[in-house]
Amino acid sequence: MKMEYVIGTWNIPSLPIVGSDARFPVRRIFCVGRNYVEHQKEMGGDGREQPFFFAKSAHDLVPEGGSIHYPPMTTNFHWETELVAVIGTGGYRISSNKADDHIWGYAVGLDMTRRDLQQVGKDKGRPWTFGKDFDQSAPVGPISPASTIGHPKKGRLWLKVNGEFRQNSDIDQMIWSVPEQIAFLTQYYTLEAGDLVMTGTPAGVGPAKPGDELVAGIDGLGELRVQTLPPR
Ligand code: MN
Repeated sequence: MKMEYVIGTWNIPSLPIVGSDARFPVRRIFCVGRNYVEHQKEMGGDGREQPFFFAKSAHDLVPEGGSIHYPPMTTNFHWETELVAVIGTGGYRISSNKADDHIWGYAVGLDMTRRDLQQVGKDKGRPWTFGKDFDQSAPVGPISPASTIGHPKKGRLWLKVNGEFRQNSDIDQMIWSVPEQIAFLTQYYTLEAGDLVMTGTPAGVGPAKPGDELVAGIDGLGELRVQTLPPR
């Protein structure tokens, strides 16, 4: 029986796939915090702490990047270039040595952040929602299937802003590897097919201005381009 809804429905958020016309439907977006040593230092952390996560709505996605508006209620809108792991097979209490089997593919993503609002959350012990989970805060490029590229453990990750390098690291510099993140996360959640995991950013985060051009890349996964527009 066809379900009837009392208001109009919306499309399932989705991402394009390299080498295919089909799209990947996205369910949830989990993001790890402070997962590269040099970024942890620049944010004021020390040493290897347990990983922690926050979430963005799948409706924050900006598939393949493009133009995004400078968001409201911030004067400190930061970029964070990240490897995105795409879950194709769900699971609960996945062990780190089996985690790769649950990953469908990988993409380049930007965890765009209203740093000033995130700081209010930190200072006052409030959620990070306003700092992290807002309209157009998750540009993500096309997914490269693991069936084609395997499971990258090393590869340069970089961001250019208006042609200048601002982030330049390697995904092998993560504090918690992608499989370790999945093992940790699935102690708390049942991961489902369609979930994304944004796996943290290296040092070099900074504020974007209206009119900036951001080009993020990871070896083997291509580039993600984002242009910031004036506020709406
Ligand atoms: Mn991040």
